[in-house]
Amino acid sequence: MGQTLYSHALRILTCAQCGAPLDASAEGGRFTCAYCSAVSSFARRDESADLSAASAGRAADVSEQERYARLRQQDRQPAAIPDAIAALLVDGHLPEDRVANAEAQWRDVRSQIAITPSFPVCERFFHLTVILAPHFDERRRRAALETAVELLPDAGHRHVLRCMLAREAARARDFTAAEAWLAPANPRPTDLEQDTAYRLAAATLASARGDYPKVVELLGFGRDDVPLENRTEVACWILRIDALEHLGREADAIAEMNDLVKQWGVDRIRHTIGLHAPLTLCERSFGDAVGRAAAKQQANARGSAEAEVRAIEVKLEQLSPSYGRLFSQLMIGTAILTFLFGSVWTCVLTGMIETDPLFGMHARVLCPRICDDCVPPYLIESWSTTTNGNNTSSSTNIYCSDAAGRMVGMEANNQLWLDAVNGAPWLDRYEVPGGMWTMWFTIMATFAPFMLVIVFALKLRGALARREQRARVALDLEAARANRARFG
Ligand SMILES: [Zn+2]
Repeated sequence: MGQTLYSHALRILTCAQCGAPLDASAEGGRFTCAYCSAVSSFARRDESADLSAASAGRAADVSEQERYARLRQQDRQPAAIPDAIAALLVDGHLPEDRVANAEAQWRDVRSQIAITPSFPVCERFFHLTVILAPHFDERRRRAALETAVELLPDAGHRHVLRCMLAREAARARDFTAAEAWLAPANPRPTDLEQDTAYRLAAATLASARGDYPKVVELLGFGRDDVPLENRTEVACWILRIDALEHLGREADAIAEMNDLVKQWGVDRIRHTIGLHAPLTLCERSFGDAVGRAAAKQQANARGSAEAEVRAIEVKLEQLSPSYGRLFSQLMIGTAILTFLFGSVWTCVLTGMIETDPLFGMHARVLCPRICDDCVPPYLIESWSTTTNGNNTSSSTNIYCSDAAGRMVGMEANNQLWLDAVNGAPWLDRYEVPGGMWTMWFTIMATFAPFMLVIVFALKLRGALARREQRARVALDLEAARANRARFG
């Protein structure tokens, strides 16, 4: 394979004046920017110190047990990022609309490093490079990463950036370049960020080569086998699940991918898989998870369409009561209204005002049926009786008048009241049997037909309103059924 954009033999740096990529050479010298014509001088590329540090790291006497223990400890803590950088991020990523701002900061911090490469300045430059790199086109990305590698004095920063360059080279299938970029990086760091960067780069290289046992050696078989830094762990899991697919552990791969999709959603996982392009990863497991997610969504949609149809059917049923129910509602409504109205009417007119409850008509109809010389109007006598000093009972007697007019005269001077209280036998023939009860029952019987008409009118109005409502609900039901039919 020939040279790629990530070839280690090339040297592409960023023009200090305009920020454009600048072709330099490993030997160093003076180079003119093709965009702004500024001339920059670079010393020879020198990786010897990092190469020997990496060999020393490989042979370091810290045991793997000790190293993993330290990495796991860091995995439980959130990554320490300078506040100025954290303020640029949303969910750990740089949003597109803040790229220009971050880029301006990157150029500014780069000029600060030329004055003093103090650690806080270098740290900001490092983080800005890491978060900006995915937003650059390939040539600018290469230039930004390589420039930062050469400018930053901290070995840890250079380690992470070289791993990023190695990963880009592996994605471009430039395996020689990927190995060359990884060579000066310590393969056994005790810092979690550096360790994860190395694993991600080395696993990307192994995956591109089809060396799947190497991928699981680096990333483990299960999710918790290897401690990984939070920002890139999902990208690592994608490589690992893909390796499981290729190693005949398809069921594990599918189960884990389904968990991932449930946790993060189809779009986010598709995006993360896409970040490994042109490598095509997790085709079977992600295909399965997408299918299941779609089926689940379909089932949910079918369920809610079904529920909607049922709810509208119930509503329509309530809007179409049976004749039996309507009839009983009519009867009960009439009974309640008649009872209330009849009772109040009788109590007020006969009980309190002491008069004919129908303004003379009642007596005119009833009195001829009580005795031969019984005539209207009613004469109503009420009194209370107290027995043993504390039991008080009240009585109301209703009499028709006599045809001769004697009783009306007696009423005027209270004589009739006295005879009624004393229970004079001559009064018996004029007394209306049942008294107040008779008034009450007959008033209710008189009012009942009118109440029936009122309740019927109200019900009819309700029925007409319901008919309109039913027509609207029927349309809704039709739409809901059509919607349900779409799900078969
Ligand atoms: Zn320039």
